[in-house]
Amino acid sequence: MNTQFKSFETGIYRPPSEGGSSSLLVRLTRNCPWNHCTFCAMYKEEKFQLRTPEEIIQDIDAMHAIYLQIQDIADDTNPEGRITHEAVRIFIRRTPELSFHQGISMLVEWMLAGGKTVFLQDADSLIMKTDHMIQVLTYLKACFPKIERITTYARSKTIAKKPAADLEKIRKAGLNRVHIGLETGDRELLKAVKKGATPEDHIKGGIKALEAGFQVSEYWMPGLGCRSQSENHALNTADVLNKINPHFIRSRPFHPYPGTDFYEKAVRNQLDLLSPKELLMEIKQTIQALKVTSRVCFDHAANGWAGPDGMLLLSQSYEGYKFPEEKNRLLDLIETGIRHYS
Ligand code: SF4
Repeated sequence: MNTQFKSFETGIYRPPSEGGSSSLLVRLTRNCPWNHCTFCAMYKEEKFQLRTPEEIIQDIDAMHAIYLQIQDIADDTNPEGRITHEAVRIFIRRTPELSFHQGISMLVEWMLAGGKTVFLQDADSLIMKTDHMIQVLTYLKACFPKIERITTYARSKTIAKKPAADLEKIRKAGLNRVHIGLETGDRELLKAVKKGATPEDHIKGGIKALEAGFQVSEYWMPGLGCRSQSENHALNTADVLNKINPHFIRSRPFHPYPGTDFYEKAVRNQLDLLSPKELLMEIKQTIQALKVTSRVCFDHAANGWAGPDGMLLLSQSYEGYKFPEEKNRLLDLIETGIRHYS
């Protein structure tokens, strides 16, 4: 590799909405500090590690060096200095070894998309020391002044434990949105899947994040309780979401992933998994019980039920359905799906 350009580290995971906006991925920590959730295989074999601000700043510097080169070419090739595919092609032609750079396509996509959004990896960035996080955010924004939105994954328990004043400082330093894995509001199910959070932790974490001024996305997992706990899961999840009233509620239907106990049970036919129709019926129960002003989103391929016309039943837009205005329209669509799968 050209010695002028240093490597930088990126993790694997980010929410689909951050992929949709071609966010810059900056890795603050490695893997998950909790790593016990029985449905999750994302970081199972990996050890959690904090990264130092110096390490992260080196990554930002490495990205910034490439950014400046591409921007220079853009300035030379078009009067507005727009980042174009042509500018990127010239850059790669000059430095062909960078085609093999592990994060180059992510960085280039981000620049082509306008360089406005950033996602901080991995699973629970707010576990970092507050001062360290502020140092990184401040540096990141100084290097890339066009940034408008910075988001991250966060555990509700971590937010619940963090002092409110620290959360506010972090928000003021530039973090705008937190993506929280709620999964369920049902106490027994939370315990069974080893989420490491109670309904009260979820409510406290969600409300504290809102009070600190973050946009809050809560992810729930329809079908997680299989048949036996479906109703409690549906209704208690709606109850917790009603108490938080986050900006976004995002559906991530349960799937037994390889590498989890659920998968082993599914292979042995020991899971009473919901059928596509039953999953829609459970979602209907949750939606009916929601009294929120959130946007309810189905922005993941796992929500891919077909409607009678063969097209997607539910929109996979990152902005979802606005509640309460679109609640009845969403319920009508779900009802159509239930009839279609009968
Ligand atoms: S907290 Fe999130 S990343 Fe960590 S094990 Fe649970 S679901 Fe997976």
